[in-house]
Formats: sequence, C-alpha cells, structure tokens
Amino acid sequence: MMKLTEEQKQKRRDYYKNNREKCKEMHKNYYENNKEKFSEYAKKYYQIRREEIIIRTGDYYKKNKESVSKKRKEFYWQNRIENILKQRKYYENNKEKILLKASKLWIEKPEVISAWKKKYRAKYPEKEKARNLAKYHVEIPKGQMCELCKLNKATDRHHEDYSKPFDVKFLCHKCNNNLERIEVKNDE
Ligand SMILES: [Zn+2]
Repeated sequence: MMKLTEEQKQKRRDYYKNNREKCKEMHKNYYENNKEKFSEYAKKYYQIRREEIIIRTGDYYKKNKESVSKKRKEFYWQNRIENILKQRKYYENNKEKILLKASKLWIEKPEVISAWKKKYRAKYPEKEKARNLAKYHVEIPKGQMCELCKLNKATDRHHEDYSKPFDVKFLCHKCNNNLERIEVKNDE
C-alpha cells in the first residue's frame, strides 16, 4: 500500500468526517462485493496471530463482560433458527463422539452430573419453577409437531421467558436440548 503523507491523511480524515454516511455506504458495498476475499484475509490473519488475538479478546472480554454477553445473546436470538440448525448438523455429524463422551461422563462420574444439575437448579430457580408449573398445567396437544424444526413430534415445553411459566413453545427433545445448551453457554 502507498504511504500517505500527514497532509494526505488529514485530508482523508476530513473527507470522512464530512461524508460519513456516504463513506459507510461505500465501505459496506465494497465489503459485500469482496466478502470472500475479506474472509480469506481474516482467516490468514488469524492463523498468523492466533495467540495474540486470543489474549487480546480474552482481555477484552474480561473488561467488557456484560456488554459482550448481552451482544452475544442478542446475536443468538437474532440468528436462533440458523444456530439451531447448525448445531443440529454438528450433532448429526458427530453424534457418536458426542454421545460417547456424554455417556462416559454419566457412567464414570455421576457425581459430576448431579452436582452440575444441582448447581444449575440453584442458579436458575425461576427456570425450575416455570418448568414445573408448565409440566403440570400445560398439556402438549396431541399430534403437536415441533415448532422449530417441524419434523419431529413435540415432547418438550420450552420457555423463552421464565416469568411467563404458561407461555411455552412445543419442541422436540432435540431442538429443546440445543436451545438449552446455547442458553447455558451464553450465561457462563
Ligand atoms: Zn425440533
């Protein structure tokens, strides 16, 4: 890239200041048209400076924990369906590995599982309450299909808001599990 003189740089900054919207639009278009190139470049950059990036993002996360996890959650809810489908695909492709790992843990370290469950319940008392209320008061309609994948029969009740225990979505076990997993991840 050509080196710019201070004067040129200043000019550029001024231009940007005065034409912010136009510049933004231009950048966006440029990005859209060269998306692949950018992602290729980003990948390369990441490979070369991996450790540095990991440390940097870790620091950033520590300093901005709340806003980061809020953004993550927002992102998750905006891309919920895609995320679930992605996770499902990952699960389908790695089913044996995942199940083996889980069942091994279940057999070898049941205390880990029950401790985890206990902790989970203590951490989310409102969740537990909403679940129990729904379980005994909201019946899953006969023949109800999963509201997310629309492929499997609904077997689970899913809350999007635990302060509304009777407001549930009927999901299959798979989709519900995927949602739970993502929620737990986001809360960590
Ligand atoms: Zn489903």
